Amino acid sequence: MAHCQRSVNTDAGVSVYRTAQGAHFAGVVTCGSVWHCPVCAAKITEGRREELQHAITEHVKNGGMVYLVTYTFRHHQGDDLRDHVKSLSEALRKMKATRAYKRVMEEACVIGTVRALEVTHGQNGWHPHVHELVFALPGMLEVLAGIRSLWTAAVRKVGLSANLEHGFDVRGGDYAAEYVAKFGKEPGEERGWSVARELAKANQKAARGPKGRTPFALLEAAAAGDREAARLFQEYAEVFKGRRQLYWSRGLKDKLGVEERTDEDLAKRVDEQSELVATISLEDWHHVLRHDARFELLQVAERYGTAGVEAFLARLRGAPGTHQGRFWLKRQFGPGWSEIMH
Ligand SMILES: [Zn+2]
Repeated sequence: MAHCQRSVNTDAGVSVYRTAQGAHFAGVVTCGSVWHCPVCAAKITEGRREELQHAITEHVKNGGMVYLVTYTFRHHQGDDLRDHVKSLSEALRKMKATRAYKRVMEEACVIGTVRALEVTHGQNGWHPHVHELVFALPGMLEVLAGIRSLWTAAVRKVGLSANLEHGFDVRGGDYAAEYVAKFGKEPGEERGWSVARELAKANQKAARGPKGRTPFALLEAAAAGDREAARLFQEYAEVFKGRRQLYWSRGLKDKLGVEERTDEDLAKRVDEQSELVATISLEDWHHVLRHDARFELLQVAERYGTAGVEAFLARLRGAPGTHQGRFWLKRQFGPGWSEIMH
């Protein structure tokens, strides 16, 4: 991850591309970690969102309906995240193996499910939860509500207590579509997590609300010097490493015509509409890294194109090579720069 968007993997230098969504680099290492890297996560979840949206559209076209089910249990401050996640998966596995659960699936004519593991951290500590898209027939809300008692029993079996009111939830049609539209996006943000927020010092208060902070909100707070947030992010990072973000039940992708793509494929994906703005020599790239100016470079590329990047690099070459460089640049680059910074 430390090499992501930083280490160069060709001798040809680093290219900067521009799309309608913004500018990005090519020719640099891509880590492809959906849990740990905000840059890769944004690209991966965008790709996953397209897959989910496609699946829902196909299913509805075939006369089906997609339900959104949420599973969670009671949690307390100080509970260990690893234990929590383990219990959550175990309770789900136990419940899904029961005959009663399979009967509900049959009755609702379920052709498959997609499960997403998510976690936030709030006043009561870690809050891991599972959202599941259930591909069934219309009018099955009541049938699916029958899962509630099965979930409560499964949670008890693994030694935890389900909050009867909030431990299980099932909603029809629009909720599933709304969930998918927001999938992987930070609360209140239309375009997903972006480094811009680090600079903009987004309002942390909102994130401290009842729903708690997402891992990337914790990371952002850590970057701003919050040590407790840093510790929490590390705990999360270790527990989630290697886990799959989305789990499609067997055969569902085939049924709905969704092709298999790995996280890495998605993180490396280059938009066909990409326009090459500039190719940066290795020497210039070192200037960019030394001044910690990758974000600013992308902003310049996005707004001012090739000429902007050339002017920006020329400034960097002349900029003093100290950690004050960033500050210096801000002063030197003039109105264009301050516009970018604010
Ligand atoms: Zn990455």
